[in-house]
Amino acid sequence: MVMGIDKMTILISTALLQNIALYAATFIVGAFVANYIVRRIQRNSSDAQRILRERVREKTKELEQEKERAEHSEKVKEQFLANMSHEIRTPMNAILGMTRLLLEKGPREDQLKYLNSIKHASDNLLVIINDILDLSKIEAGKINFEHIAFDLRQELQSVYETMKINADEKKLELRIDIQEDVPQFVSGDPYRLSQILLNLAGNAIKFTEQGNVTIHAAAEKVQEDTVQIQFRVTDTGIGIAQEKLNVIFDMFTQETSSTTRKFGGTGLGLAICKRLVEMQGGNMQVESIPGKGSVFGFSIQYEVVNKAEVPKEEEHLQALPVNKLKNVRILLAEDNEFNQMVAVDSIESILPEAKVDVAKNGREAVEMVENGNYDLILMDIQMPEMDGHEATRAIRTHSSARVHNIPIIAMTASVIKAEVDKCFESGMNAFVGKPFNMDELLDKMSKVITK
Ligand code: ADP
Repeated sequence: MVMGIDKMTILISTALLQNIALYAATFIVGAFVANYIVRRIQRNSSDAQRILRERVREKTKELEQEKERAEHSEKVKEQFLANMSHEIRTPMNAILGMTRLLLEKGPREDQLKYLNSIKHASDNLLVIINDILDLSKIEAGKINFEHIAFDLRQELQSVYETMKINADEKKLELRIDIQEDVPQFVSGDPYRLSQILLNLAGNAIKFTEQGNVTIHAAAEKVQEDTVQIQFRVTDTGIGIAQEKLNVIFDMFTQETSSTTRKFGGTGLGLAICKRLVEMQGGNMQVESIPGKGSVFGFSIQYEVVNKAEVPKEEEHLQALPVNKLKNVRILLAEDNEFNQMVAVDSIESILPEAKVDVAKNGREAVEMVENGNYDLILMDIQMPEMDGHEATRAIRTHSSARVHNIPIIAMTASVIKAEVDKCFESGMNAFVGKPFNMDELLDKMSKVITK
């Protein structure tokens, strides 16, 4: 039974070889399986990546389409508002112009009452149109602020003068309190400041039956070149309930549903003021006690400048060289019959020796300026056959120097900034928006006229 050594060795070697073969086979199969798994994983993961890439591509496309749709509807909205503003301003120019002409004709007491009411209602309508345009500009982020040097004390004073008339009508005392530390000359946006203060003071007067309204200004933070001014408008009016203090800054929101009936308004003013303040880096606060009064406050930071940087006060309209315009020959390009009547009669009532001819469209205007001898053109923009821009370009490129040098004032109900810019690009020298203000028109006429 004893096995020989050789046999044992053979047996062991065979067993070893078998084991090695088994290990090798297992290793090879394992390697194959591992390789297979790795390839599978790789394939799966590249499939997953491909699917992911496709999803990302689809999502990006969807988002791009959504963005395009949003931009398009924003443009449509802007265009709609600009058109609506133009369409309302055109008849408003006739209504306000004719009301002004009638008021100048010494109406009877009862007629005066009606005429003043028409004027008041029309002015209110214009405020609403301007507010809606402002809000849409704010929402579209298209509002620009001026950075110009101005006389802050003078600006506050003119807000006071404007509101004094309204306060006097209601027998309210309007006060102005400008602290010593408020610098006179600063750099910033005087127009938006006036707009905010006029709105707050207008509300204060509207919602106060007796007592007083005060416009305050004080320097809050004075640094080397900048100053933060705290403005406040206080009143002794009806006040606002605590739970309504936040909502009054929302669009189209008033304290109660009966506010419009009793006081008028749209609930847009404060929403605009708040945003205008915030866009200038400040914030607006309100405190109020029902039955006692309200305080609306906000701060804006301005750069302090010296007097030399402030442009000189424009020549006052009273000092207008009406003499310069005495025999002026004007060509009015205007298609709307009522607005022709208003412009011609308004000019002739102030400048009886002036001569105003009317062209019904741009083409007629170009022909008339070639054949006539005019000192200036008042150019409407939207006209049939040839609009104001085309007519201006035709005049500016005319071979005769007499024709191509003639001053042109745009007189249009398209008042949004892009439209104003377009007028200057077409070659016009000045711009007057409709409904036009006679003093502004005379001022611009005297500025553009060369002789
Ligand atoms: P509007 O004056 O056109 O209604 P606003 O946005 O300017 O719109 O004001 C919103 C509301 O806030 C007003 O309708 C009124 O209810 C309330 N309010 C604003 N200012 C005052 C104030 N000084 N006193 C009392 N209530 C005010």
